[in-house]
Amino acid sequence: MFFDPLYFVILAPAMLLSAWAAWSTRSRFAEWSDVPTATGMSGAEVARYLLDRFGLSHVRVVPHEGVLSDHYDPKEKEVRLSESVFYDRSISAIAVAAHEVGHAIQDKDQYAPLALRNAAVPVASFGSNVSFILIAIGFAIASVQLIWLGILFFSAVVLFQIITLPVEFDASRRAKEALAKLGIVTDRREAEGVSKVLNAAAMTYVGAALTSVLTLLYYLIRLGVFSGGRNEEE
Ligand SMILES: [Zn+2]
Repeated sequence: MFFDPLYFVILAPAMLLSAWAAWSTRSRFAEWSDVPTATGMSGAEVARYLLDRFGLSHVRVVPHEGVLSDHYDPKEKEVRLSESVFYDRSISAIAVAAHEVGHAIQDKDQYAPLALRNAAVPVASFGSNVSFILIAIGFAIASVQLIWLGILFFSAVVLFQIITLPVEFDASRRAKEALAKLGIVTDRREAEGVSKVLNAAAMTYVGAALTSVLTLLYYLIRLGVFSGGRNEEE
C-alpha cells in the first residue's frame, strides 16, 4: 500500500486543489501587499482597533515568526500576526489581521464550531500521528481490527478538518463586516482586495478537508468496504 497508484488516482483532485490554493494564497497575498491602506493603518493597528471596538481590550496583539503563520490563541488570548502582517500598512495585512480578530470574536461569542474545533485539537493531532501507523501495520499483518482502529483515529482528523471550514469562513465574514462597518475599508477596491486575500486563504482549508475525506475513502476502498470485504487480502 506504500506505492499504491490507486491512492494517487483518488487523491488527485485534492492534491490539485491544495496546490492551486497554496499558489493562489501566496500570489493574492503578494499582489495586495503592494496596495497601501487608505487609512494608513498597519495590520497590528487594525487588530488592536477592532479588538477594542468589540470589547476585547484584554486580547493582546503580538508579532509572530514565520510567513503566513498568523493565528489566534484562545488559551493565551493572543492574536499572533506574522511580521509582514503586523507591520505592513497594506490591504493584505489588514485582511489577515481582521480575520484573526474574527476568531477572537468567535471565542468571545462562544461560537459553537470554534469550541468544537478547539476541543477536537488534541484528539485530531493524536489521531493523525497514530492512524497511519495502525493502518500500515494492520495491512502488513492483515489485521482488519487494527485497520479499523486506525480508521477510527483517522476519522477524528477528518472531522477536525471539516469543523474547521465553518470556523474559517465565519471568521472571514466577520472580518469583512467589521472592516466595512468601522470604516477601515473605505471603498469597493479595498473591499475587493480583502475578499480576494481571504477567499484564497479559505481554499487552503477546503483543500485540506478534501484531502482527509478522500484519504478516508481510499482506506475504506482498500479495506473492501464497498465490495463486501472481498479485497481484504490486498
Ligand atoms: Zn483562521
